Parts: sequence; C-alpha cells; structure tokens
Amino acid sequence: MTKGTYWLEHAWLGDRVEPGVAVDVAGGRIGAVRTDVHTPPPGAEVLRGLTLPGLANAHSHAFHRALRGVVQVGSGTFWTWREVMYSVAARLTPDGYHALARAVYAEMALAGITCVGEFHYVHHAPGGTRYADPNAMGEALIEAAAEAGIRITLLDTCYLSAGFGEPPGAHQLRFSDGSAADWAERCAVLKERDHARIGAAIHSVRAVPAGQLATVARWAEERRAPLHVHLSEQPAENEACLAAHGRTPTRLLADHGVLGPRTTGVHNTHLTEEDIALLGGSGTGTCMCPTTERDLADGIGPAVALQRAGSPLSLGSDSHAVIDLLEEARAMELNERLRSRTRGHWTAAALLRAATADGHAALGWDEAGTIEPGALADLTTIALDSVRTAGPPPRLGAETAVFAASAADVRHTVVGGRQIVRDGAHTRVPDVPQALARAVEALRA
Ligand SMILES: [Zn+2]
Repeated sequence: MTKGTYWLEHAWLGDRVEPGVAVDVAGGRIGAVRTDVHTPPPGAEVLRGLTLPGLANAHSHAFHRALRGVVQVGSGTFWTWREVMYSVAARLTPDGYHALARAVYAEMALAGITCVGEFHYVHHAPGGTRYADPNAMGEALIEAAAEAGIRITLLDTCYLSAGFGEPPGAHQLRFSDGSAADWAERCAVLKERDHARIGAAIHSVRAVPAGQLATVARWAEERRAPLHVHLSEQPAENEACLAAHGRTPTRLLADHGVLGPRTTGVHNTHLTEEDIALLGGSGTGTCMCPTTERDLADGIGPAVALQRAGSPLSLGSDSHAVIDLLEEARAMELNERLRSRTRGHWTAAALLRAATADGHAALGWDEAGTIEPGALADLTTIALDSVRTAGPPPRLGAETAVFAASAADVRHTVVGGRQIVRDGAHTRVPDVPQALARAVEALRA
C-alpha cells in the first residue's frame, strides 16, 4: 500500500521491543508511530512476529551467486577461488546479468533485505569493447533491483590494473575504463531514481594506481556520494602495497584523500594499529562480510577495535555463499568469541543497528533503517513462532533474531510502504528458486 497503516505485533524500536505498534505510511515514508496499540486498528495490514527496520546488505557482487556450491569442491585459497569467479564474469551479458541479479535481489527480499550496495565492476563486453550504452551492465542491475522490489546503491567501481604497475589481465579488460578520468565520465551519465542511488568504489589499491585514487575520491566528494573500497582482505595485498609504495593500503588511501565519513572500507581484515587509528579517526566505516571472509579463509578482522576507534560497522553478504544478514550479524559476535574466548563484544541491538541504520548510512540512505516518523517505510518481519524462534519471551526478540533466527524466518518485507514479501512469498517474482536456477544455468551453458 502507498497510504495506510501497518500494525506490528512486536516492533524493535532501536533500544527495546514494543508490543502492539501502529505505523502509518504515506508517500513511501513513515508518518506516525503509535505504541500501546494492542489490537490491530480497522483496515490495518497486520505484521505478526517481530518487525525490524529493513535490512541493508552493504556489500554485494550479484554474479557471485552463480558460484554457490561450485566453489566448495576441492581446496585452495582466495586466489584460486578468484580464477573460478573470473570464468563466470567472462560469460556475463547485460541480459543474462539482469536475469541473474533480478533473482538474486528477489532472494535478498525474501531474506528481509530492503537495500543492497552493489559493488559493480563488470562494465564492458569481453575484451573490453564498450556496449552501445556504456552503462548497459549497471542499468541492468538498477532495473533488476526495481523488479525485485528493493533499493540499490550502485557502487560503480573503478578497476584499472591487475596489480601495482601491472596492466589489466585478459579477464580484467571487462572491468577497466582505461583511466579514472574515463571511469568518472562514464559514471556521470548514470541517473538516480526513487529506488536507486549512485555511489563510487575503488576496487582495491591493487586495481587503481595511486596517482588516480584522488580522481575517484573527488568524484564522490562532489556528489556527496558513498565511496567504498576493498581494503586489506589479504596479507598479499598489504605486502605488495608496502613493496610498491612503502606504506600500508590504509595509509596510501589516507594520503590520497580517500578516507572520511562517506567512505567505507570493505573487509578491513589485516590492519596495523596505525591503520585502525586512521580509519576510526577519519570516521571511515567498516563493512564486514563474515560469511564470505570465513568461506574464503581470509581471517577475522579487528572489527571490535575499529568500532572502538570510531569506525561504524555495516554488514554485507559479498560473494553470497549464503544470503542471510542475521547470520552475518551473528557471525560477528561468534567469531570474536572464538578468538577471544570471552562473550559479549556486541549486543544484539548493536548488531541490528549495523544491519539496519548504519548499513543504510554506509549506502547513502541516511533516512532509512529506523522505525520513526519521517523514515522510509522499509520493514522486515521475523517470525517468532518458527522451530528456531519459538520459546523466548518476545521482549528478547532482538536476541532471538540475531542469535537463533535465519533468513528462512523472514515473513514479511516492506519497501517504501509496499509489501514485497508476504507470508514468506515474493509478491513480484513468482518463483524465486526457479528464477535463480534458470539464470545460473544460462550462465553455465
Ligand atoms: Zn567484495
């Protein structure tokens, strides 16, 4: 609905769970939020369970969904995984990518995700030939998000080199615009829409020569757009950066004006004390993707120290080994418990803030991620009566959602006041598993 009332059986209001909350919606935004409404008002749409603000998936590469399962056969490292990933990237076309991304974003909607940050770097045809519309691939992703009913920040990614001082390899020709100036010119043509915002990304310090980092940073600065960068995911990147520039990747980014409150470092896994101080002191965000980081054997990043230093936390499903933001949130705390052998590094509320308000802020949607008047009417409802969630008192709904629920417990998803998932079914993409199977199969053929 575009105008009306949702009645939330239980609602997480940032610091507590309230039973019986009426949320008025008009023009895609939340009007009044009324508590102590113990029966649904006449005509209200009823959301049974625990309703959270919509979840933000702050780091996605939609096409990696085609690797699920396939990359679990055999052994290797991040670098061997990357070869398989490149072979899938080589087969993408605008139409094939649209079909795959539509299905992947529909899977996200079913998992309660209302906004995705798509870190997008497959820009051109194989060999680097430009499409008639040089933004055909980015447009395919924006359209896919519209059809799946979720918001997108297209983080158009500058990717120019295979490594420090190395030209792009054969697979990477599709990613490269030739220079940061040419990247900026192509991106300037992309238009924002109601459901879509445009941000920038630096693939990594490996992929953008130091002398061109400032061009990307300035582009984002002029537009007050989010700027994301893969940062120190692998020790090999740190070693190569030290050899080439005599400083860490974080220091290199700081020296070229890349860090700041609109910037998010993705992974931030292998950092020095100085790196942590630079990121925290500049207000640069940290996007952790723990299900991917464990899948790729990256390591466990110093997220606790980063947050303490002033770096806000967001979460992403990155390679889509699984798409489950509750699992990402849970993994943050559980990884830290295994490492430290102590409990209680984050509260459930702090992890939900990372998955909602702070995730949206990292994607340039500051007005989303809370249930309060004026916010975008984006909501996610978790069942409290499933085999996983039945039992705990509803006042512990946040703890139950983070530490016991899964994406399979998402019952309703509302974006801009419209119900995109109702009773666990997508309202616009009739058979999401089939859409996924077909799109992945088409890439394999
Ligand atoms: Zn990534």
